[in-house]
Amino acid sequence: MDQSVGHGGVPVACDICRIHEVAAQSGSDFAALECHRGQHWLVRHHPLPAPLVGWTFLCAVRHVQGPADFSDAEADGFGRALHTVSRAIREITGCDRVYAIAFGQGAPHLHMHLIPRFDAVEGTRAWQVADWYRAVERGEHAPADPVAVAHFVGRLREILVKSPLGERG
Ligand SMILES: [Zn+2]
Repeated sequence: MDQSVGHGGVPVACDICRIHEVAAQSGSDFAALECHRGQHWLVRHHPLPAPLVGWTFLCAVRHVQGPADFSDAEADGFGRALHTVSRAIREITGCDRVYAIAFGQGAPHLHMHLIPRFDAVEGTRAWQVADWYRAVERGEHAPADPVAVAHFVGRLREILVKSPLGERG
């Protein structure tokens, strides 16, 4: 299937919209990494090879560039979604803090990077995490263990079922 064409033959120019569409098909690689899909928010692990176990995306379901363009309902729910997913990442990984970064540049569709940060790992401190990301992308740094990623995804799904993001769906 031509991945640039979405349901009904409508062109899908946005990578995030395309990923959400592919992830809706059970058995796809993206489906295996999806942790939650609700009315406004979709939560998924970074695709493999992943830079870190627990590198998670909080995505708007709707094609919206960022918070400045949120609907009232998205604006009201965003804080709770961010809180719930960030806390779950910390609970699962035992990290010291969770970084939250959103550019909306590579794809103009909110996909907030939520990154578990361990203070003992100097190479992921603040903006160094971007160097780490690129090193994994270039194959210069070992990616996260896929088995550990699958385990993380299973745990995050369990937590988000018990602690929904405060939305229907
Ligand atoms: Zn989109």
